[in-house]
This record gives sequence, C-alpha cells and structure tokens, in this order.
Amino acid sequence: MENAEKGLEPESREITEQEATLVRWLVEHGEPGCDRLLDQIKNLKVISKCNCGCPTIYFALHATGNSRKSERLISDWLAKIGDELFGVMLFEVAGQISSLEVNCCSGRVVTFGLPEVAAFLGYDDLAVDRLTAPSS
Ligand SMILES: [Zn+2]
Repeated sequence: MENAEKGLEPESREITEQEATLVRWLVEHGEPGCDRLLDQIKNLKVISKCNCGCPTIYFALHATGNSRKSERLISDWLAKIGDELFGVMLFEVAGQISSLEVNCCSGRVVTFGLPEVAAFLGYDDLAVDRLTAPSS
C-alpha cells in the first residue's frame, strides 16, 4: 500500500446520490454500532479527492477539516467488477464519517468509478471475516 504517495486535490461539493448510496450501505454493513453515523450521510461534504484516477473521497462535516491521523476503519468490503477485485473502505474520525476509499486490489486498473452495491461480495464469498456480520 502506497497511499501516502497518492496526491489529494481539493474539492468542494455536496455528496452525490451514488456516493451517498454507497456510504449508507457501508455504514449499514459496517462494524456493530456504526449505524449511529447514518444521520450524517445527507450532510456530508466532499473536501478533497484522490488524484490517481480512483474515486476515493474525503469528507468534512460543517467544513471543519478532519485530521486523517486518527482515522478508524469502520467498514471494509470487496467488490468484483469484471475480473478485478476492488477494496472499499469507510473511515471515521471521532464519530464523524471521514473518508471513502476505493482501490483496485491488483493495482492493474488505475482509473475507475465507484462500484455499485450489487458488485459487493458477500461475507462468505471470500471469507472476509475481519468485521462481525450483523447477526441480531
Ligand atoms: Zn487514488
């Protein structure tokens, strides 16, 4: 992972419908208890994005920037598009959704868009067991 070397470019816009749908799904299928973040989604503002060609974006609530230092992974999924696997991760800082990160697992695909929720692999497909499946 060479994330530190990727550049960020500033962005200033509302979250798109597609991004919001994806974030909502990730929150609903994230670690136990993170559904407390659902109310934030409609108010998320995109303040920067990755400039490598991937759709990774960074959010701010109320225009207060979030420090990435204390980011915590709250939802971690794989999506399959064609023959490629993509990692999709949602992070929070201090109870605020902070970023949506998408990367191509093989690194072969550089420029791509957000995967559809339908492309996500289920818990069983690849034994993605780092997070606890909602069971109750
Ligand atoms: Zn990128």
